[in-house]
Amino acid sequence: MRITVLTLFPEMIEPFFTSSIMKRAVEKGIISYRIVDIREYAEGVHRKADDIPYGGGAGMVMMAAPVSRAIEDSGSAGRRIVFPTPSGRPLTECYAEELAKEEELCFICGHYEGLDQRVIDTYVTDEISIGDYVLSSGESAAVVIIDAVYRLVEGVITPESLEDESFSSGLLEYPQYTRPERYCMKSVPSVLLSGHHRHITEWRCCKRLEKTMLNRPDLLSDASLSIEERRTLLKILNKDDKGTCQRWTLSEL
Ligand code: SAM
Repeated sequence: MRITVLTLFPEMIEPFFTSSIMKRAVEKGIISYRIVDIREYAEGVHRKADDIPYGGGAGMVMMAAPVSRAIEDSGSAGRRIVFPTPSGRPLTECYAEELAKEEELCFICGHYEGLDQRVIDTYVTDEISIGDYVLSSGESAAVVIIDAVYRLVEGVITPESLEDESFSSGLLEYPQYTRPERYCMKSVPSVLLSGHHRHITEWRCCKRLEKTMLNRPDLLSDASLSIEERRTLLKILNKDDKGTCQRWTLSEL
C-alpha cells in the first residue's frame, strides 16, 4: 500500500513511519509512504497557507490553492483521498478493513478551523471522524486512521494476531496476561495456566462478553452470538440478580 500524507507539519507524521511495526512494514516493502509539506505549495515569502473565514468567525481556514496544488503534484487526484474531520463518517474496524483493500491512500491533515470546502468537494472521497471530540490537528487523526488500516494489510502482522481482537467478532477482547505469574499480590487466572484449551476458550469467551457488557453494551445488539455465547451471556446477566433485576431468557438475547 502506498500512503501519501499532505500536512503543514511533516515532523508530526514522520516518527510514525519510522517506528515499530510500521517501520518493519516499510522495510519489507509492504508499505511505502510520502509526506508532502503543503507549505511548499504556498505562495509568497511567508508561504501563507491559511486565511480568515468568509462570513466571519474565529480562527483561520486552510486555503484551497496550496492544498489543491499539493494533491495534483503528488498524483493523488482521482485516488481515494481521506480528510479526517470531526464531522466525518465514524471510523470503525469494518471501515478500516474496507480502506485496507486500497493500493493507494492519500490523507489531508486539517489544521486551524479546517479546510476550504471547495477542496473537499473537488478531491476528497472520504471524510472520516475518529470520535466525537475535537482535536487541534488532523495529523494525529490521520495517524490513527493509518494505524487502524495498515495493520490489516496482508503481511504486516500475522493473521492469527488479528483473529481474536476486539471487534473481530463484534465483541471486545478478553484480558491478557504475561509473566510473571504473580505480580503485586495479583495472580494470573489459574485457568490460563492449566493448559486445558477448552476451559481457556470458555473463560475467554466469558470475559469477552463480560467486558463488552460493561464497556460497550451497544455492541451486543449487533454481534452475531453463537448459542454457546448466548448461554454464557445469560449466565452473566443473571449472575448478579438479587431478585429485583429482570431474569433474562435465551430468547430475549
Ligand atoms: N472547526 C472544526 C469543527 O468544528 O469541525 C474543527 C477543526 S479542528 C480544531 C482541526 C483539524 O483537526 C480538523 O480540520 C481535522 O482535520 C482534525 N480533527 C479534529 N478532530 C477530529 C476528529 N474527531 N476526527 C478527525 N479529525 C479531527
